[in-house]
Amino acid sequence: MLLGLITALSGCSDQPTETADSTADAGQPGQQFEWKMVTTWPKNFPGLGTSANDLAAAIEAMSGGRLKVKVYGAGELVGPFESFDAVSRGTAQMGHSGAYYWKGKVEAAQFFSSVPFGLTAQEMNGWLYFGGGLELWRELYEPFGIIPFPAGNTGTQMGGWFNKPIDSIADLKGLKIRMPGLGGEVLTRAGATTVNLPGGEIFTALQSGAIDATEWVGPYNDLAFGLHKAARYYYYPGWHEPGSTIELLVNQEAYNALPADLQEIIAQATTQANLRMLSEFTARNSAALATLIDDHDVELRAFPPAVLEELQKQTQVVFDELADRDPKAAKVYRSFSQYRRQVMEWHAISEQAILATRPLPESNSGPARSPNE
Ligand code: CA
Repeated sequence: MLLGLITALSGCSDQPTETADSTADAGQPGQQFEWKMVTTWPKNFPGLGTSANDLAAAIEAMSGGRLKVKVYGAGELVGPFESFDAVSRGTAQMGHSGAYYWKGKVEAAQFFSSVPFGLTAQEMNGWLYFGGGLELWRELYEPFGIIPFPAGNTGTQMGGWFNKPIDSIADLKGLKIRMPGLGGEVLTRAGATTVNLPGGEIFTALQSGAIDATEWVGPYNDLAFGLHKAARYYYYPGWHEPGSTIELLVNQEAYNALPADLQEIIAQATTQANLRMLSEFTARNSAALATLIDDHDVELRAFPPAVLEELQKQTQVVFDELADRDPKAAKVYRSFSQYRRQVMEWHAISEQAILATRPLPESNSGPARSPNE
């Protein structure tokens, strides 16, 4: 339909339009493209996998079927942690994942998913779209022939599932914990052993005792994997992931071969996917939290302030060392930390101030419970 509109509009002019000229180089008018999207999530996994499906469907609908995208779950075309390479070499034109999974290739990528004590979803979007973040991200992936787009955000995550209480930082010592990204490095400094596992392997690892504790996302996704069946305590807050951006990776060469309107459709579809994912997680996390507590007797616990303080100290050491050893990370960290400082001052008197005016009826120790509890 969009193409029909453009054709009709350009038909009103006697002279060839710029649109007609630019599409001559990149695809023929009406040309159809069939793309593949690989993901790091199990096929159709609630919220993450389904968001990849929805994004592909939106692109196809918006393009009137000219850009069809077939979505592959983790392991269907390539392994969950092979998405980046698959898009880089063009095995798939698109990938749906989280940037911290690529720390082994490009360490600074971690800033574009979520870093410990970093930015909330709202703040991440501010940095990416209007604070110079997205330009830095694109510069970082450019050598790999990949263009990244923000394509979702889970909001603030949970601190994770444990089978023993974490009353002091010493309680983390010796635990084997699944945690990706810089959060994992911070835990290592606190004496834990950390591993990264794709989502689909977490439950079995936790249940079998291969790992002692894990984080995944939040109530909605954690309930879907049944993590409450393998651990007793559910800790908050997700200090390691205050607002995790989900990325769409696009192969640069394939993108360049698209006409301008299809390129724009990808940009607009990812922006709406970003909004939709955060909206979905916000609504469904609240509902799933109630289910976990009321139906599954999950014990909700807050990390003690002293534990968070120590983790925050270690985080600064991790940032400083990363910036020292990697000039690209140093550049990203400069932009990130300058923006963070500014947005913290603004949010202290806006978001944070308004949240402080609405304490839950029952205290400081967790979410509202029903009155008779
Ligand atoms: Ca996580």
